[in-house]
Amino acid sequence: MLTKRDFYINGHWVAPATPRDYQVINPSNEEPCAVISLGDQADTDAAVAAAKAALPGWSATPPKERARLVAAILDQYNARLQEFAEAISMEMGAPIDFALEEQAPCLPWHTQNFLKAFEHLEWVRPLGPQAPGSAVVMEPIGVVGLITPWNWPVNQIALKAIPAMLAGCTCVLKPSEESPLNAMLFAEFCHDAGIPPGVFNLVNGDGAGVGSQLSTHPDVEMISFTGSTRAGKAISKAAAETLKRVTLELGGKGANLLFADARADAVEWSVRRMMENTGQSCNAPSRLLVERSVYDQTVAKAAEVASSIPVGPAHETGPHVGPVVNKRQWEQIQGYIQKGIDEGARLVAGGPGLPEGFNRGFYVKPTVFADVKPGMTIEREEIFGPVLAIIPFETEEEAVRIANDTPYGLTNYVQSSDRVRTNRLGHALKAGMVEMNGESRGAGSFFGGVKQSGRAREGGIWGLEEFLEAKSISGYDFAGKDAAE
Ligand code: NAD
Repeated sequence: MLTKRDFYINGHWVAPATPRDYQVINPSNEEPCAVISLGDQADTDAAVAAAKAALPGWSATPPKERARLVAAILDQYNARLQEFAEAISMEMGAPIDFALEEQAPCLPWHTQNFLKAFEHLEWVRPLGPQAPGSAVVMEPIGVVGLITPWNWPVNQIALKAIPAMLAGCTCVLKPSEESPLNAMLFAEFCHDAGIPPGVFNLVNGDGAGVGSQLSTHPDVEMISFTGSTRAGKAISKAAAETLKRVTLELGGKGANLLFADARADAVEWSVRRMMENTGQSCNAPSRLLVERSVYDQTVAKAAEVASSIPVGPAHETGPHVGPVVNKRQWEQIQGYIQKGIDEGARLVAGGPGLPEGFNRGFYVKPTVFADVKPGMTIEREEIFGPVLAIIPFETEEEAVRIANDTPYGLTNYVQSSDRVRTNRLGHALKAGMVEMNGESRGAGSFFGGVKQSGRAREGGIWGLEEFLEAKSISGYDFAGKDAAE
């Protein structure tokens, strides 16, 4: 078992002020795989003080130099990719090939996209001929607290820490206590890349401790949060006292509208996409809305595909579904499966209990319910597990109404070969992102929702600007502009 009690503060690994042990459990076998410490107010204060002290120097570092140092993080990543992927796989249960090919590569993918966008960032923006002596200048917002979940752990760290540092902010990361190991490796990458002391700090902890201490801290200017809608609301309230900026990436209940003219592999794609990462993705297409004329065949195909997906431990190679992250999550998913049965949905694949052949580990059968009605619990609530709800519709208008009738608005999907229809639906669906026919978001785009899925825009130029403050200057001397950059 790994012992990882220290925190990364001001360029050093330091012991917690008061050690409080927390065991990280390997969800594949329910064995502890690491012990960390949960930080307290003294640890949070030390990390914020380090970030505050480093801010003047880092924000004054020329952007090109900041970009060079941030890009050097990728050299460390490349040298330690296998170790990094193994940490993710062990602590949150992503199958090792998935961790290597999908989870870990989020770091270089986002970093490279941010670096490209960063080249085009305008730090000094003239207001134009109507106000020749006025400008808006962009400045780093200051010390930022980054609070991340366990499900795509590196993805969220990359979407926050990389743009924060590029923008000239200094930061304190509190990763999920369920998946701290990859975050601690990321801190090592930053250290070995030469990121100056205090620019990036890491304190492990739970939401009630370090999470809320960062949210209320008077020296933290901004919280960038990804996690549940419940915690997002708590953080917004906690941060209100100091009126800090809060960006939120929260839960989802994605609708996937499948029409009779969808491409041949659309059903298979939809089921596999749902089961990816064991259904633990905020943008999972968890409600499959199917046009009535192809409903029966779609249900049969979806059941066949889900039943054929192998389940297995995270360390095993090959494509399969791993365990869910922990016992609490397993029990919650089982509760939803039972609710689906009790409320009258038709179980066509999977179901309650451990898959055959397992007696330990947090494994869930890939499960499909048909004949789900709008308003049923499994149609309304985010399950965050491998459970698909299939709902029939008669008309496009009805499909849009069902899709939009949710408190969430993160990602919706459309499967149809009619390009006029897909464009129309792109506008009609209330979500931060709409993906047509299996097309994923392009490089340089953003991730973000509307309604109770949060209001952040992470990625690309939008993700950089979240960490910047606009300042209006009248009587600006444009001849001195280059010095400002
Ligand atoms: P969670 O909200 O329980 O925890 C997320 C992080 O917040 C953890 O670091 C946790 O310690 C911390 N936290 C919890 N309560 C807090 C509080 N009151 N104050 C401060 N910090 C607090 O979420 P989770 O279980 O780790 O992740 C799953 C959730 O994250 C799902 O709802 C999923 O949809 C959502 N998610 C959203 C996105 C997105 O980009 N929209 C991406 C991934 C996950």
